[in-house]
Amino acid sequence: MEDCIFCKIANGEIPSKLVYEDEAVAAFYDLTPQAPIHVLIVPKRHYADILEAEESGAPLNQMARAAKTIARQLGLEENGFRLVINTGADGGQTVPHLHMHMMGGRAFGWPAG
Ligand code: 5GP
Ligand code: ZN
Repeated sequence: MEDCIFCKIANGEIPSKLVYEDEAVAAFYDLTPQAPIHVLIVPKRHYADILEAEESGAPLNQMARAAKTIARQLGLEENGFRLVINTGADGGQTVPHLHMHMMGGRAFGWPAG
């Protein structure tokens, strides 16, 4: 997908602080972190959002698996973390490439504001 910032980050066209990569997924630090650790996990294939992701849920499985690996890698297993997928206008999605926020290193309240 041309002109998609997360496609460009995922394929290395734009440099980022890469945390994790496999054949299907890339993960890198958020530019504007909302927590001491704030990583974005994205499928390498372009989907605008979760509604566009395949019926099989394959990209979501791959992202969730990456989150488990990253949790181990960054020491988030003990205290936990938050995973968020913003979708559309009401969801507050600003980048139209499916992504999962992984945030840790502090406690979050619920419900989110
Ligand atoms: P959304 O609001 O769509 O759920 O999340 C988009 C996230 O992408 C935001 O947290 C924002 O800080 C992050 N972001 C936007 N542009 C860039 C970028 O060029 N590089 C990185 N690493 N993060 C970005
Ligand atoms: Zn994209």
